[in-house]
Amino acid sequence: MIQEIHPHRFNNHYQPGKQPEDHDFVLYYQDKTVLLKDKGLEAELPRTRDFAEIPPEQEFIFLFTLDETPCFLTWNLPDGIGTGLVFRDIHFFRNTWQKEIAWACLAGLHLRDWYFANRYCGQCGTATCHKPDERALVCPACGAIAYPKISPAIIVAILCGDHILLARGNDFPGAWYSLIAGYADIGESLEEALVREVREETGLDVWNIRYYGSQPWPLSGSMMIGFTAEADDRQTLQIDHKELADAAWFQKDALPHHPPALSIAGEMIEKFERGKL
Ligand SMILES: [Zn+2]
Repeated sequence: MIQEIHPHRFNNHYQPGKQPEDHDFVLYYQDKTVLLKDKGLEAELPRTRDFAEIPPEQEFIFLFTLDETPCFLTWNLPDGIGTGLVFRDIHFFRNTWQKEIAWACLAGLHLRDWYFANRYCGQCGTATCHKPDERALVCPACGAIAYPKISPAIIVAILCGDHILLARGNDFPGAWYSLIAGYADIGESLEEALVREVREETGLDVWNIRYYGSQPWPLSGSMMIGFTAEADDRQTLQIDHKELADAAWFQKDALPHHPPALSIAGEMIEKFERGKL
């Protein structure tokens, strides 16, 4: 999965007051692109020293540490952009072997989106400040505190013997089939969200719900929480066409095109294919 970057290490322990040094990494985004050092087939994260001139008022926000190197977010591109720096679509993570760089860019994007969305207090509209002792934004006028937001979503492999239920979302690229997924709503447990989502999207009743694992998915600010569940494939499928173009049972040895194991969905489908789920 995308967050698995061994032997590299991602450490999101927040370091209050941390200021960037010459060799530290700088993450700068424009929409869904990130600034990288173009080294031919490879890419590198730019370091502070790669920018010719950084004005003293340039704002840097400490994000996390990749291996031993602190990573900082900045909002404005310092003047004198160095040579060899290029913007890359954030989706480069799907095709790169440099998993640690892709993961730093993705996790940084989630934080960038959160910091940007909370520049102003949701209670009174005053500009927020960084809380000095932890990762949070605080309102100097009313004291409201905003903590990083993650949206929990269930994702479920529905099984019946050697068949798995896969669905093709209306917005899926190409002819991909994947697992049923959906956000947990306020007031329900993950298991209740799962039962509701499966029933809404396919009309199926499921049982024997078991936790599989989880995956942060920074592009949508989500935490995907994976489960397996059983269903009877003789139940009538009632597909919600507002969400799904198709849903069907597939036999283990005849699975359709599906996402790769970068995502928890792809990993679970591939494990089912190998009889390991
Ligand atoms: Zn306020």
